[in-house]
Amino acid sequence: MLASATPATHQILMIESAEKLRSKRWHVQRAHFMLASLRRFATELRSEGFEVDYRRAQSFGSGIRAHRKEFRAERVIAMEPTSRAGLGMLRANHVELTRSNQFLCHPDEFSAWATGRKSFKMEDFYRAQRRRFGYLMDDNQPVTGRWNYDEENRQPPPRRSDTQRWPRPIVTPLDEIDEAVLSDLDELGVQVWGARPSGLWATSRSEAVRRLRDFVEEALPVFGPHEDAMLSDNWHLAHSRLAQYMNIGLLHPREVCDQVESAFRSGVVPIASAEGFLRQVLGWREYVWGVYWLWGSEYGKRNELEATRALPAAFLGQATTKMRCVGQTLKDLYDHGWTHHIQRLMILSNFALIAGIDPQQMTQWMWAGFVDGAEWVMVPNVIGMGLHADGGSMATKPYAAGGAYIDRMSDYCKGCAYDRRKRVGEDACPFTTLYWDFLARHEDRFAKNHRMTRQVHAAKNLADLPAVRVQATEMLHRLGRGEL
Ligand code: SF4
Repeated sequence: MLASATPATHQILMIESAEKLRSKRWHVQRAHFMLASLRRFATELRSEGFEVDYRRAQSFGSGIRAHRKEFRAERVIAMEPTSRAGLGMLRANHVELTRSNQFLCHPDEFSAWATGRKSFKMEDFYRAQRRRFGYLMDDNQPVTGRWNYDEENRQPPPRRSDTQRWPRPIVTPLDEIDEAVLSDLDELGVQVWGARPSGLWATSRSEAVRRLRDFVEEALPVFGPHEDAMLSDNWHLAHSRLAQYMNIGLLHPREVCDQVESAFRSGVVPIASAEGFLRQVLGWREYVWGVYWLWGSEYGKRNELEATRALPAAFLGQATTKMRCVGQTLKDLYDHGWTHHIQRLMILSNFALIAGIDPQQMTQWMWAGFVDGAEWVMVPNVIGMGLHADGGSMATKPYAAGGAYIDRMSDYCKGCAYDRRKRVGEDACPFTTLYWDFLARHEDRFAKNHRMTRQVHAAKNLADLPAVRVQATEMLHRLGRGEL
């Protein structure tokens, strides 16, 4: 919409909704990122000559109504929003909608792709996207003859931690806009947690573009091989940390993919890194967006594994944990409002899955706690990918793993109070114990899943399974008391 707007023909309406701000307990860096980006954009539009009606209203609806009344606006136009609640609000307030161009695959196009398919494999969608947009393709075939470099990209962390290997993030000093946002959050009584913003996250288009360039030049060449690795002395490794900019519109996924393509074609980025990253942006991100709209509001309420346990106190900052992997990941989240995808999937979500945490509570927590969180991001990622609460509609098997996986992919287990090899005993690793207990708990369901047969069989044949199950019950009690 803004692409065709001019100061002579359009006035811009922007609304800060107190209701929205007070609707969750946000990570302070997320709340700041959203508001500071909005305010900075208003300043930029004014400097381009636009008249901006910037409203601090009780709700988006009341802001729209007040704008209409004051300016006698005949038409209020918005781009299709990124949530069902936003869509409902705009329709209820008779706002005209223009088609969203924020993603490469519009929900209508995703729906057309999905129609008539028995399965919705991300890999199939990703290949269709590669063909459609031509990234890393020659004559409609993958440029190297291979679609997938996951095997090369699953290496454990390098043997000795080498801080020079991982390029340092850009930091932009905070200014008066940032300070005003932080003091307004305080004044409005918005509930926040986490470390104060440090300038890590860009809140303007130019700073976001600078971070994109920096990622492609410095980090992308070494992104692939260790993209699934986790280190206690480095929270970002070679990850891009660009999702929040695409989610809010400071960057467009097309320019991100274009830069990856041209860095690969110019020979500075190896194929495994280029493909691994493109898979995240062109594949996973667009797939999750399509699934959010396709499966409707009921999808977010699913709880096929009947998991009802409350969020662990450590997740809420109400207790500490002796699990070094969880403690380090929560610290990274507290410090930056961000952790990389394997910490999200294989530490936080994996733990929630095997401990039987309520998927809706987990979704809300992740939505509010990450700078790149949003309903469309977290519902499919938590309900489908992380907690298998959709019974396998999205991922054909649950992403459950014990301490052995975490030990292979991280340096967390060294120095942990627990022993990742033990499933019973005082120092048994909660991931290991709960993993086997999870398989036994859901034996009937997973025995029918051919991708799970081997694990279910192994769990059944554990000589000490009865002791493991007793240990798991005791651990879950300790978790409830915030003592794990
Ligand atoms: Fe996590 Fe278990 Fe390893 Fe400790 S031993 S870091 S709890 S996986």
